[in-house]
Amino acid sequence: MDKQSFLAAVKAAGIVGEGGAGFPSHVKFAAEVATVIANGCECEPLLHTDQHHMLHHAERIVRALCQLKAVTGADRAVIALKRKHADATERLRAAIGSMPVELALLDDFYPAGDEQVLVREVTGRTVPPLGLPLQVGAIVTNVGTLVSVSHALDGEPLTHKDLTVTGEVGRPGLVHAPIGSRLSACLDVAGGPIVPDPVYVIGGPLMGRVVDRAEAFAEEVVTKTSGGLLVLPRGHYLHLNATAPLHHLRVRAAAACIQCRACTDLCPRQLLGHPFETHRVMRAFGSGAELTAESAKLALMCCDCGVCEHFACPMGLSPRRINQAVKEQLRAGRIGFDGSREVSEARTLWRAFRRVPVPRLAARLGIANYLDLPTADLGELAPPRVRIPLRQHLGVPARPVVKPGDRVRCGDLLGDIPPDALGARVHASLDGTVASVGEAIVLVR
Ligand code: SF4
Ligand code: SF4
Repeated sequence: MDKQSFLAAVKAAGIVGEGGAGFPSHVKFAAEVATVIANGCECEPLLHTDQHHMLHHAERIVRALCQLKAVTGADRAVIALKRKHADATERLRAAIGSMPVELALLDDFYPAGDEQVLVREVTGRTVPPLGLPLQVGAIVTNVGTLVSVSHALDGEPLTHKDLTVTGEVGRPGLVHAPIGSRLSACLDVAGGPIVPDPVYVIGGPLMGRVVDRAEAFAEEVVTKTSGGLLVLPRGHYLHLNATAPLHHLRVRAAAACIQCRACTDLCPRQLLGHPFETHRVMRAFGSGAELTAESAKLALMCCDCGVCEHFACPMGLSPRRINQAVKEQLRAGRIGFDGSREVSEARTLWRAFRRVPVPRLAARLGIANYLDLPTADLGELAPPRVRIPLRQHLGVPARPVVKPGDRVRCGDLLGDIPPDALGARVHASLDGTVASVGEAIVLVR
């Protein structure tokens, strides 16, 4: 298949990066690079979605990756996953056969799946601070995205997602859900919560979003970037950490930060050689100088991984949440980073010794009990209605091409990309009737 046809198929199917913020894949894949990397590291504890893809759709992953290698002109195609996933490794080896695809087997550390960390592990090159893998000739794409690309090459748009439902639930496992399904319906399939007053983490335990009001959770739906749902008891460490008010964080940063540098020394960005020192952001924030101090702008280099606050800090402070708050303020004020972007190889010398082992991280997070929960195949959800957001990706919302009362079939186009805009198409995920059109399109079976 030639490059234009490949990109057209990916665009038509509405494919976005499923492991991250949802960057439209037809734009990302248009580049010429030296290395394409399929990311199956799934470094967040408790998630099994990428493992499921590699075990059950290995041929699709290899096929899509080979096509991607061809259209980007890459010399190398690599599938990266954790060494501990022996079954998935064997399935991938069998699917690869004699095709020019390598496997990169990584140790069980966090955040192995961070795309800048992964590029360094696979290519030995360092993505510049605030930069993209493209700048060092690499594309990183999630294995789930490649499964969707493989379907796109068969003319099938992205309509369903697999997600892990785990934690305090009756029957933890993987649900295959139409996009737009309520997350509460996915939870029902998993046996519902088994604690009286649950809270929810949408995504993984480290980088996921905490929802602690039942009414808010009832509105949450499966999107193209959904990968997991974790149920926890109210008052769990992760709940309290995510909901502490910002002014408390400031008081605590001012009163208790001992400037020990542990947050900086274990930060994966610092260990890539970036000039990011998060303890200096803490100092600026604690003194209320986050919009004036040069050091506060370093926060823009933070990838939100959470190593600093969940593992490194001996005082129980929240450098990650403080970086997020500072980033928001800087972006609102259109303040960019104009300091040094020099990468220091000297900082990377500790990289191999300061990796955070996932079991120890899980113990710190209070989720070790859930690490070995079974992951049953919970089958496909068939909801009576879906609410499909027109914006599930980076860029502008899709423009609706249907109106209330229209009848659609699963896979029909609901929203298209506005002319000359960055965006992704949106498709129907069931056969039914359009009930309403707004920021989301509601379909009734
Ligand atoms: S690890 Fe904690 S106490 Fe030490 S500098 Fe960082 S935020 Fe401050
Ligand atoms: S969350 Fe913490 S450890 Fe992770 S990149 Fe940001 S400052 Fe570094």
